[in-house]
Amino acid sequence: LFVDHPLGPGQTVPLSREQANYLFNVMRLSVGAEVAVFNGSEGEWRATVIEAGKRAGTLDCVEQIAPQQRPPDLWLLFAPIKKARTDFIVEKAVELGAARICPVQTDFTNAERIRQDRLQAHAVEAAEQCLGTYVPPVDDLRKLSDLLADWPEDRHLVFADESLLGARESLAAAPEAEKWAILIGPEGGFSPQERERLRALPFVTPISLGPRILRADTAAVAALTLWQSERGD
Ligand code: SAM
Repeated sequence: LFVDHPLGPGQTVPLSREQANYLFNVMRLSVGAEVAVFNGSEGEWRATVIEAGKRAGTLDCVEQIAPQQRPPDLWLLFAPIKKARTDFIVEKAVELGAARICPVQTDFTNAERIRQDRLQAHAVEAAEQCLGTYVPPVDDLRKLSDLLADWPEDRHLVFADESLLGARESLAAAPEAEKWAILIGPEGGFSPQERERLRALPFVTPISLGPRILRADTAAVAALTLWQSERGD
């Protein structure tokens, strides 16, 4: 269970109305039951229910049972698409170990805004579901051009370029780096101007994801999997 609260021995943790409903009405837990909790920065803890109400409750933190996970420093930049597919990308990015999720507005992105809070809540659910202790922050929508304008040059950007379809360009061409990002375009792909700008940047490696055009959500999963297998821990 994710809690937005410090954790430590003897620390009491108040539960939200939704959490109390889930634990005490849905899961039927009561006082004395044990719950595993994490807050994204202090590992996983064993906690005991000390108050169980219909709309509120309290846990008592007992001991740490798993250390904090630190995923490799990999950001996923993607152009938001339809709601359900954007939710899917966020969920899979958490499962596949992205350290930060950055929705970006590209020349051919239709979305002008996103529900950042909803996507962040999705990231929390995904971390709970895959028993991770790290929840990547989900940024608000930013223009790709603005991000590139103040890009930290020590972060290497892997650019999934659909125009390379089937070419042999791969992640192997990217240099050694500590900090990484993957960029996936929208359904309409990248504009010629964007592609030209990206290809001219010294910290960018364009890659192909194979001989077929993948949907943006598939491309995000494929690129994250590829990166984890070739460059991950
Ligand atoms: N409308 C574009 C076209 O027909 O060329 C396709 C865009 S694709 C649906 C969405 C994004 O997924 C692309 O911008 C790219 O980042 C990524 N992508 C899909 N297939 C790819 C491939 N074979 N190689 C590299 N990137 C790919």
